[in-house]
Amino acid sequence: MARKVLVLGEVRDGQLRNVSHEAISAAKTVAEGGEVVGVLLGDSVQPLAEELIKNGADKVVVVENEKLAHYTSDGYAQGLLAVIEEEQPQGLIIGHTSLGKDLSPKIASKLHSGLISDVTSIEVTGGNIVFTRPIYSGKAFEKKIVTDGLIFATIRPNNIAPIEKDESRTGEVSTLAVDIKDLRTIIKEVVRKATEGVDLSEAKVVVAGGRGVKSEEGFEPLKELANVLGGAVGASRGACDAEYCDYSLQIGQTGKVVTPDLYIACGISGAIQHLAGMSNSKVIVAINKDPEANIFNVADYGIVGDLFEVVPMLTEEFKKL
Ligand code: FAD
Repeated sequence: MARKVLVLGEVRDGQLRNVSHEAISAAKTVAEGGEVVGVLLGDSVQPLAEELIKNGADKVVVVENEKLAHYTSDGYAQGLLAVIEEEQPQGLIIGHTSLGKDLSPKIASKLHSGLISDVTSIEVTGGNIVFTRPIYSGKAFEKKIVTDGLIFATIRPNNIAPIEKDESRTGEVSTLAVDIKDLRTIIKEVVRKATEGVDLSEAKVVVAGGRGVKSEEGFEPLKELANVLGGAVGASRGACDAEYCDYSLQIGQTGKVVTPDLYIACGISGAIQHLAGMSNSKVIVAINKDPEANIFNVADYGIVGDLFEVVPMLTEEFKKL
């Protein structure tokens, strides 16, 4: 059955986040040959509409309003609900990012709809659209179908492959005027913590350090390896609690969930709460001097050794490639 499916294009620093393209790919599966409509909310986001179309959207609806310059759940909900009212879609896909996690329950409750959150794969089986999502901190997966009403899901970044970009694709871009009002939060200014390199939640390679890194300086060899591999640095809570690095790097149950192509765990024991944030990575390499460390139970490749010897050796070898 062909459906119209809306996809929220998530914009950060004037750029579309990768998860927006992955959401279009997910929407194509849900649409089953129907129409995929990108939605852009913001202050000056119209130039990004073409990008959504080249990445697979059939058309794009843009809501521009200075009150949408910064994300607020009230403002974005008003913008997105107006587009939903106008387009009457049968499906809605949003990235399972900080923004998506905040916005999607609000939209679902306003629409009296269900929501399948944190989806890692979607397939059409036996006439049903089947959504798979991890449960129990990634120890099991559940499969869900929607039997009635809006098919609404958030998708975990880095899990659903985007469709190939086609520079020649064209599509309609329309604007919708929405009166954004009664905002309970007004963002005056966004002060960002300086971060280096690749965004952790979207990185294809993550080099993560644990308490075994021993100090803030101990993260330097990890940063170098991440740099050579074009990846991001992450950490266990052990390393964050010990003040070796910032909590924004924490991966796990109470930190970020990452699913890179390659996860290199250095001096991390593999506590269940850490595994919850990284065990779905495609290839896991563990470096630990304790051969009994639990991290080796989830690792595809294990190196028993001192990370301060192994990590620089890896960096030198990767530099040669
Ligand atoms: P440790 O367990 O101390 O392990 C350090 C490892 O480094 C050891 O295995 C050791 O053999 C190895 N090592 C030491 N020196 C070297 C060396 N030179 N070379 C190689 N290896 C070396 N943790 C998270 O990570 N993320 C979370 O989101 C999270 N949420 C939590 C939520 C709750 C409610 C609770 C109770 C805990 C949570 N934790 C979380 C904490 C978790 O239980 C562990 O305490 C933490 O993950 C341990 O961090 P670690 O592996 O770095 O440290």
